[in-house]
Amino acid sequence: MLSKRVQAIDPYIGAELRDKIEELRRAGKDIIALNIGEPNFQTPKHISDAAIKAIEAGFTKYTPVQGIYDLRQAIGEKLSRENGLSYPPDEITCTTGAKQAIINALMTLCDEGDEVLIPVPCWGSYPEMVKLAGGVPVYVPTEAKEDYNLSAKHLEDKITCRTKALLLTNPNNPTGAVYSKDTLEAVGALAVKHNFYIISDEIYEHLTYEGTFISIASIHEDIRSRTITINGLSKAFAMTGWRVGYAAGPKPIIKAMNIISSYTTSNLNSISQIAAIEALNGPKEDILAMKQAFDENRKYLHERLNTINGLSSTRAKGAFYMLVDVSYYFGKKIGERVIRTPGELAAYLLEHSQVVVTPGEAFHAPNHIRISYANSLEQIRLAMDRIENSLSELREVI
Ligand code: PLP
Repeated sequence: MLSKRVQAIDPYIGAELRDKIEELRRAGKDIIALNIGEPNFQTPKHISDAAIKAIEAGFTKYTPVQGIYDLRQAIGEKLSRENGLSYPPDEITCTTGAKQAIINALMTLCDEGDEVLIPVPCWGSYPEMVKLAGGVPVYVPTEAKEDYNLSAKHLEDKITCRTKALLLTNPNNPTGAVYSKDTLEAVGALAVKHNFYIISDEIYEHLTYEGTFISIASIHEDIRSRTITINGLSKAFAMTGWRVGYAAGPKPIIKAMNIISSYTTSNLNSISQIAAIEALNGPKEDILAMKQAFDENRKYLHERLNTINGLSSTRAKGAFYMLVDVSYYFGKKIGERVIRTPGELAAYLLEHSQVVVTPGEAFHAPNHIRISYANSLEQIRLAMDRIENSLSELREVI
């Protein structure tokens, strides 16, 4: 009954975990969710107010597929002001979340069997999105001991005549890596040399705590002409539910992406478009305060994790996740239950300490769990106490 393409796709672990958490909360459990990739803040009021005004003014109809001109202009100004990139409105498309921009870009570029490079650990959606678009994910390793930096050598080793694109996430989910100018130059040079595209997912741009965020397309015109820059308002503006994403890139690619949108979503929600203009052009105090709170959480979490027996984590420089090596606990047991994988450890932590973390299997990180620090410091502290306590009950198998 189901197509081969759909059968090849793994279910989205985030959605499964969300259902599980809801079920446990309904059963009265005091769950702390450290799996969620969403700010624990409300959308700033001036943004919501702009949306309310849009509804009251009757701005509730279809819009142009690529988004209204004023929004694309606001995005163009943002790209120029913050990233040193120059894109006119017709090289910009607005999408239902960055997710739609990514899948549209993949569908635009990939023929059946084309290869897409994905540095791993990676955001779990990428490989499945590549498969949905008919492409083949090709994994490029990055290592904790190198702070998950992307090595041009490792990347070049994986390039073949079928390489069509690289999916670059900067800052990275789940590793927290923020790539230096040298790294981006080397990666960009490979794209030019081997003639592939860079889909640069910059959704965590504003959540850079160490190092400087650089948009890869700004490095050189040759790189810009092969880059589709993806961004959105979900993370930095606490607007996950509004579903505002966008892409900027070469005109023929953006035009093709618009055709895909015209047959799938028609347009980004009209009210969200007005809210997005206010977010991009309006005051930034709220988003700076959020960033500061995440940064405090990050410092606390990193210090605390590295005091817990058997755990280790690099200090994430961006986004709001920490990837924690838990392999010390593989082979340990409680009662007759032996822990062998991140998935089994995450299930144990959920049952024993009612803390939800995401198992590394979701990110091609077989020794790790991912902890999101987009939560209150108080909840993070409590969760870490509970995790430490649960881990201390695991024993060697004799
Ligand atoms: N890209 C990355 C790396 C993400 O982690 C996420 C969400 O978790 C997204 C894109 C999706 O963003 P949006 O809500 O704009 O679809």
